[in-house]
Amino acid sequence: MTDVLIAGAGPTGLALAAELAMAGVSVRVLERREGPGLPRPVGLQPRTAELLELRGLDPADQETEGPSGHFAGLPVALDHSVWHTRHPRVINRTQDDVEAMLAEHALKHGAVVERGHEITTVDVGADGVTVDGRRARWLVACDGAHSTVRRLLGVPFPGRTETHVATLAHIRLAAASELVPARAAHFSQVTRQANGYWSMLTPLGDGGHRFVFGSTTTQPGRDAPVSDTEVTEALTALYGAETRLGEVYGASRFNDATRQLERYRHGRVLFAGDAAHIHPPLGGQGLNLGVQDAMNLGWKLAATVRGTAPEGLLDTYHDERHPAAARVLRHTAAQRVFTAPNRGENVEALREIVVDLMRLPDANSYFSGLLSGLGLGYPGARRVPDLDLTTSDGPTRLSALLRGGRGLLLDLGDHPVPPGFTGQVDHVRAATSDDEYRGRLLLVRPDGYAVDPAELGRWFG
Ligand SMILES: Cc1cc2nc3c(=O)[nH]c(=O)nc-3n(C[C@H](O)[C@H](O)[C@H](O)COP(=O)(O)OP(=O)(O)OC[C@H]3O[C@@H](n4cnc5c(N)ncnc54)[C@H](O)[C@@H]3O)c2cc1C
Repeated sequence: MTDVLIAGAGPTGLALAAELAMAGVSVRVLERREGPGLPRPVGLQPRTAELLELRGLDPADQETEGPSGHFAGLPVALDHSVWHTRHPRVINRTQDDVEAMLAEHALKHGAVVERGHEITTVDVGADGVTVDGRRARWLVACDGAHSTVRRLLGVPFPGRTETHVATLAHIRLAAASELVPARAAHFSQVTRQANGYWSMLTPLGDGGHRFVFGSTTTQPGRDAPVSDTEVTEALTALYGAETRLGEVYGASRFNDATRQLERYRHGRVLFAGDAAHIHPPLGGQGLNLGVQDAMNLGWKLAATVRGTAPEGLLDTYHDERHPAAARVLRHTAAQRVFTAPNRGENVEALREIVVDLMRLPDANSYFSGLLSGLGLGYPGARRVPDLDLTTSDGPTRLSALLRGGRGLLLDLGDHPVPPGFTGQVDHVRAATSDDEYRGRLLLVRPDGYAVDPAELGRWFG
């Protein structure tokens, strides 16, 4: 019997598979797609980049001029450097390329990924789960916004239904007017509203453009194919008749539905990523949330499978990650106030006040913490930056010490070993020149959050 089955080899499922496999748990991922996912451009937020580095992955593999991130496209750059990070900018990647990196990482650690398998049946028992005849002790549904597992188990997905369908097309232009942005720039400089349409048009590295658009008067069906005619009509309305379409080389639709599961755990079935929460793709958050869910859940589920988890550890996954996603749902809803077409005078007035606020350093760091994920902590668990350290083996970084996916007792002074320490986490003495951390004893979880060392037993048994 497999320890853990994972439904879906998107970014969440693959990141989770890697975490579990690293911890010595047997894991099998079932994915209906035979090949890679969409080459959709996605932004890796600073906290996700830090988490990938914790496992030795290079988040900036294809780093282009990443933007600093934005809130609702308001014309004030977010300054992520205040959070003491090596990744103060959003990193431009494509979703298929992130998935390929995570798949390689998961396979290297022994996860099995079975492609071309569409899940159709799930039976849950007291001590295990059966998925299409495959037995496992646990199932994690990472099968996306339209989760089959969620549907088969009849788990409600409460929230707001969509009010708007938008289109995302990758296009090449045969001719461009001066209204077409010449280079990738801050969100506020690549968005436009005219003649009943709104859009975001961003030049891509391959000579094409990413064209996201919607109409304020008519809406396509969520699954309606994207035609060259409708792309041409939108381009003309927004960028003038001189702007002419060359070709569309990829297109999809998305909507603004916002939903979240009430509980992330249903007995032996857990939910993560888009299967657990969806929201409009404002501010580039969904993939980031999913990878962060996986990093939070992986070590807790692995310890539960191995039988070393303290009482209640697995339930802290819901307790910590449900509010984290709820916060994203809230701020994407707030962003929609400012990005909605036909905003009206009251919203314009509010917009100016928020822009003024964002120019104040404290407010800017609040928005930055929200969008980048760097401001996220959990009750009693705080993010630790990737400190430069010197150990008896020479210079290193905190991320290098967490690479194996184990917890870490990091002595930055000369502390006695806390009671209850039996080697359940790594123990390293090191020096740091960082004033905030010098002399301290830190207990760092595998997902990079520090907890009270006196609570070693609560987290690691
Ligand atoms: C236009 C747009 C732009 C976006 N931009 C960004 C961005 O810049 N930054 C960001 O962080 N996020 C962005 N997102 C969101 C991001 O793409 C998603 O949040 C992310 O893909 C969620 O990952 P996941 O692994 O949870 O789910 P998915 O990526 O949906 O993966 C689910 C997987 O499960 C598989 N599956 C489904 N059903 C079954 C079944 N029955 N059997 C077997 N397999 C199954 C699917 O084939 C799929 O591979 C954007 C989304 C859109 C629509």
